[in-house]
Amino acid sequence: MKEYAECNELRDVNVDGYRLQTWDTGRSVAHGPQHAIAYRFTAPDGVVLFESENFGCSPRDCIDSDACLRGLIGFLTCRPGDVEPAYFQDYTEAQLAFCDGDAEQLQTWGMERQDSAECPPPKFIEWAKCNQCGGKLTRDRFDRSHPDLCQACELRL
Ligand SMILES: [Zn+2]
Repeated sequence: MKEYAECNELRDVNVDGYRLQTWDTGRSVAHGPQHAIAYRFTAPDGVVLFESENFGCSPRDCIDSDACLRGLIGFLTCRPGDVEPAYFQDYTEAQLAFCDGDAEQLQTWGMERQDSAECPPPKFIEWAKCNQCGGKLTRDRFDRSHPDLCQACELRL
């Protein structure tokens, strides 16, 4: 997958320790009118499980919305039994292990709930943002004494 500029970044969220990043490709999907979203889904151990530039965001949803992320997660957490077996024939071993393991638990993130007032869907947490200024943190800073702050904010303490 090509690298996208920061200005094309849509979301960067923490889904139970998995990282989901999305980018605006600026075009529609190859075979339809939906806006194409590029994404990368990384396991807690740093292995990139899924990445592609061709997720079609529903025309009902804003491309940077939670709803778009939920649609994408619903697709990424498809498991044998949800769709026909042929769907999984090109899956890698890591992807199949994910299907058999955490995918079931993560499916709750992908569910759209109509009566959301009574049972709201889980809220997405932004991936590694500074608690003070909202600036980005990088993973290698997690071993510092204030892992929730960026370096600049930590120095100002
Ligand atoms: Zn900060």
